[in-house]
Amino acid sequence: MKIAVFSTKSYDQDYFEIYAKDTNFSFSYFETDLNSDTVSLTKGFDAVCIFVNDNANDEVITALSENGVQLIALRCAGFNNVDIKTAKNHNIKVVRVPAYSPEAVAEHAVALILTLNRKTHKAYNRVREGNFSLKNLIGFNLSGKTVGVIGTGTIGATFCKIMNGFGCKVIAFDIQKSDALIALGVEYKSLDDVFKQSDILSLHCPLNDATKHIIDNDSIAIMKDGVMIINTSRGALIDTVAAIKGLSDKKIGYLGIDVYEQEENLFFEDLSERIIQDDLILRLNSFPNVLVTSHQAFFTREAMIEITTTTLKNIEAYKNDKKLENEVT
Ligand code: NAD
Repeated sequence: MKIAVFSTKSYDQDYFEIYAKDTNFSFSYFETDLNSDTVSLTKGFDAVCIFVNDNANDEVITALSENGVQLIALRCAGFNNVDIKTAKNHNIKVVRVPAYSPEAVAEHAVALILTLNRKTHKAYNRVREGNFSLKNLIGFNLSGKTVGVIGTGTIGATFCKIMNGFGCKVIAFDIQKSDALIALGVEYKSLDDVFKQSDILSLHCPLNDATKHIIDNDSIAIMKDGVMIINTSRGALIDTVAAIKGLSDKKIGYLGIDVYEQEENLFFEDLSERIIQDDLILRLNSFPNVLVTSHQAFFTREAMIEITTTTLKNIEAYKNDKKLENEVT
């Protein structure tokens, strides 16, 4: 089988080269993302392997079908960037890696919380410059604080357990409650109550029509003053303009994001020598209480191994006409 791998970085290729060496798949690696301008590259391939910021919309999928592609193998859990309906209409199967390492993402959310709160990033720079002052480095105890979790699936549940370990009161909203989390002491509440009662709010739901801009002017207005908002899920869960207003008004006390609404033009690339044209990210970066990471929450060795091996199993199952355990329908 010939597979075109899009949005490839050297680390993706390294892991595929190690784990695919005993398969007879033929991989071609493209640094570019898959979109309507690059879909012509897929001529003659049986499958495409894509990541979070590739765009498999209606137009791209129609072109993939014309080019003979029969399988879209996502190297991620979220599939909001694939038009599943159009894929089905063209008889293109879509497979994903549903849970490669919930710990990787949940632990990164905690890293954002601890960094914003205890300001270790600022302390690191200060001390290296010989500045041992504690001025403005004051944080707060996590123990006893109320942490609101929106989406208590695989990653959200792992996050709830970690925050429970910190001695936080964990409250949550999900369209499906987890008995295991209730047994752990997590209290499910209405979405508005989670917004109203949380000192720290962490987003772990998928991006869909119901969750797009779940954080907007209205939801920010009912939050506690000085709330900390953490997003390691998908950028468009937050209305960036509303978040900037919330930060300017000092309503939002801290914002930690690993994902950003317009990240596809920025994230994963070294743009340090370019003039960045995205004024919203520049404004976000101007706040001292904002921490942006470049969609790295998944990026642990364990997760990379799981992503690679599950992707290979998904492709192998398709090739051998076996049941597609990780099919998105
Ligand atoms: P999951 O499917 O296991 O859990 C998602 C949960 O959200 C489910 O419990 C579901 O019921 C709930 N949900 C669905 N609609 C909801 C709504 N309207 N309101 C509240 N809850 C709702 O997914 P997961 O593996 O835990 O991943 C969560 C998200 O994390 C993914 O969708 C993906 O976008 C993101 N993610 C980010 C990274 C990263 O590197 N930053 C890596 C992996 C996944």
